[in-house]
Amino acid sequence: MSTFQAPKGTYDLIPPDSATYLAVREALSAPLRNSGYGYIETPGFEDVALFARGVGESTDIVSKEMYAFETKGGDKLALRPEGTASVLRAALEANLHKGGNLPVKLWYSGSYYRYERPQKGRYRHFSQVGAEAVGTEDPALDAELIILADQAYRALGLRRFRILLNSLGDKECRPVYREALQGFLRDLDLDEETRRRVEINPLRVLDDKRSEVQKQLTGAPMLRDYLCDACKAYHDEVRALLTAAGVAYEDDEKLVRGLDYYTRTTFEFVHDGLGSQSAVGGGGRYDGLSEMIGGPALPSVGWALGVDRTVLALEAEGVTLDIPATTSVYAVPLGEEARRVLFGLVTELRKAGVATDFAFGGRGLKGAMKSANRSGARYTVVAGERDLAEGNVQVKDMESGEQQAVAVGDLVAVVQGKLA
Ligand code: ATP
Ligand code: MG
Repeated sequence: MSTFQAPKGTYDLIPPDSATYLAVREALSAPLRNSGYGYIETPGFEDVALFARGVGESTDIVSKEMYAFETKGGDKLALRPEGTASVLRAALEANLHKGGNLPVKLWYSGSYYRYERPQKGRYRHFSQVGAEAVGTEDPALDAELIILADQAYRALGLRRFRILLNSLGDKECRPVYREALQGFLRDLDLDEETRRRVEINPLRVLDDKRSEVQKQLTGAPMLRDYLCDACKAYHDEVRALLTAAGVAYEDDEKLVRGLDYYTRTTFEFVHDGLGSQSAVGGGGRYDGLSEMIGGPALPSVGWALGVDRTVLALEAEGVTLDIPATTSVYAVPLGEEARRVLFGLVTELRKAGVATDFAFGGRGLKGAMKSANRSGARYTVVAGERDLAEGNVQVKDMESGEQQAVAVGDLVAVVQGKLA
């Protein structure tokens, strides 16, 4: 072991487990790629003000969890704590919303950074797959995203997750509710920090996990009773579309989520096998965000699914993904001359699209065959001086154990035929 370790709250993805992460990323994004979403990649850091404005000064993310720093050139940047603000910033900068082709549907996958107290399922460096549909107000779009996330989790084999759904209202009805809620909360017995939260982000208090706070919230005004007719109709339509698609959800009127920019539809995917870090993904509508970061009004909706927690959810359900061996053929040379010839054949096989690996380092037959086994290759190609003198190599079927001499010049075609 070296003197260095991964920083606190981080971990390395290492083979063979890393293959599961790749497969999860792939599976979470597959439904998006199948539904008109285009891939977008933005920098790992942004102007810190983008997050301060776009995520909200009063959120935990901005006030406590952000890795903010000043560069040598004096720029104030932050490692991205989430994807939505960056993606919208990029879409506006590239004028994607002006092409007359709304909604702009984008998906992304990458690393995010939050200075949190590390726990199982809560890391300082984690990974998300996300989707944003920018520029359109249509309940079918909200429903589409929820349906696609549901499909992604189901395709992975997950079953013990639930969808929590709520509406946060809009700029008509939310302020009225906010005031009513503040009136209620100001009369409660709350600590200093929560009192501050009552003033800047009162909806977040509903989300407080502490039981002494939850107990006092009985009888709090509920947003549901304050929704304007337009928000109510919108929400009913989203729910009807989900029901028609056979996607089960639970109404959760306390679901508010951490970001300031959410409006109307808000949802979370929770998994019942994860303990307190139960949210595997979440999202919602953010009709006001574009204007908050200096763009035009662009009603939008999106989600982000946590890759790390999805992997933990698979473990909790005992689901192992069927990940095919990456190597099809493993070449084992016996002797110097065979090494040169087989190394050439390996390159030929790879060029022909056959996943091939080679016993490097001049190892003995026994050790090399062990590596061949470990690689999961279906076929081993072994050659010694005598085989080569006859113009052959030996192709061994690792499943049946059968071995067959194949002429050097025929190897690629023979192997391709066997694998087809
Ligand atoms: P939580 O309430 O658990 O803190 P969040 O509301 O902060 O979650 P979002 O900002 O909605 O999370 O991010 C979407 C998803 O990203 C989460 O549902 C979760 O799966 C994942 N995620 C968020 N923060 C972390 C983290 N620190 N470590 C690992 N995964 C995370
Ligand atoms: Mg959080």
